[in-house]
Amino acid sequence: MGFTIDVGHDVPVYSLICTWCEWLDISNNQRPGKCAAFPDGIPMEIWIGENDHTKPYLGDNGIQFERVEMPVETGEKGNDKESNPVEKILLTAVKSVGALSLSIKQLAGQHKYQRSILGAVQNLWNGNIDKADFIGVLTQLIPIAFEQAWLDGAKAAGIVGIEELTKEERDALQARIDAEVGFAKNGSFADYIIAHNKAAGFKLGSLRHRASLWWNRYTDVVNEARMMAGGNKKYRWQWFPEKEHCFSCQKLNGKVKRMSYWKEHDCRPQHPDLECMHSAGGATVCGCEFVETDEPCSRGPLPRWRAA
Ligand SMILES: [Zn+2]
Ligand SMILES: [Zn+2]
Repeated sequence: MGFTIDVGHDVPVYSLICTWCEWLDISNNQRPGKCAAFPDGIPMEIWIGENDHTKPYLGDNGIQFERVEMPVETGEKGNDKESNPVEKILLTAVKSVGALSLSIKQLAGQHKYQRSILGAVQNLWNGNIDKADFIGVLTQLIPIAFEQAWLDGAKAAGIVGIEELTKEERDALQARIDAEVGFAKNGSFADYIIAHNKAAGFKLGSLRHRASLWWNRYTDVVNEARMMAGGNKKYRWQWFPEKEHCFSCQKLNGKVKRMSYWKEHDCRPQHPDLECMHSAGGATVCGCEFVETDEPCSRGPLPRWRAA
């Protein structure tokens, strides 16, 4: 190998090759990093970009470089980019890292969020974009990433889509987005990067800690969403026709709603306003129950079910 490096000093924190490879273990902060091909550490030659690892390398366990999933580029005059400001800004932001391009779909997940922030930081650091571009990228990235983070967290409670979130959850998510976008717009992160930029002789690695505060917020949002959703799961109205078969219970059978929804609408098995309960004059004849479920929420309002 034709290079020497003071261990831990001149080793770049970000690899021109590995940073953009699907196999990189992003939970590992060592340099060189680790990956599926090299779980004990990536060879320096690859890490510093002297070998792009597109061909088999001794000891790579049969795994080679795979670029982070690329968006479908039709090559049609950049119409997509024109109509999609996020993509346009991001493509501008990352142009110095070669062929990398990002799409909204790719931004899903903390992995993507980290890469996107890194890309923006790197480009501001090396002067490829200016402060306004940088803030613009963050401002557009944050809502996409946080929405994804919220859904990642709510998934633990069986929530399968944004439309299943309660008003409280939407408000909480929006509050997190507004706060983070506010931090981005106040510009102190951008100023910090500019004050520690390449032209001033700072290494990109010196910005990693500050940048990690941003992408780590993703986990915060996941956890908040998980807690809120866990206390408010989905339940399906389950009836048992062999016990009773009133029209109220029949209409409600199979409906899936968050528990907060059922409560808010004062609707539950054995409710005195159910037709069976109403006509029984106080006897508990309704044999229905709530069953916890991961099925999608029923769309629209509940049917008219009250006999009273
Ligand atoms: Zn009934
Ligand atoms: Zn019933």
